[in-house]
Amino acid sequence: MTENEAIEALRLSGGLEISGRPRRCAEFFEGLDIAIKALEEIQQYRAIGTVDECQAAMEKQKPQPPDIWGDGYDKEGNIIYDMYDCPGCGQSYEIDDKYEHCPECGQAINWSGFENL
Ligand SMILES: [Zn+2]
Repeated sequence: MTENEAIEALRLSGGLEISGRPRRCAEFFEGLDIAIKALEEIQQYRAIGTVDECQAAMEKQKPQPPDIWGDGYDKEGNIIYDMYDCPGCGQSYEIDDKYEHCPECGQAINWSGFENL
């Protein structure tokens, strides 16, 4: 029995016939079995997460450069870059805390090129 046949076997709105022949009790229960298996499969997918959630989690594993900034100046008038924002969620951190992963959202942060800050 295919899933479509199972749906047909379970539909009471179609009357007591399946494709013009009488609905059999065994077919109804076979349909029920298939429906239960399909629901169990859906539960497994829900436990894993949606495709969008998986995509977002994978994106967070790709290290992105931090968004470096500062609001203070040295004696020569140069900006002191002592802060950065997470490229994933925008949370601000002090440059002394160079997180490999944002504690807020889990975004991987690529520090290459910023080692001297
Ligand atoms: Zn973040």
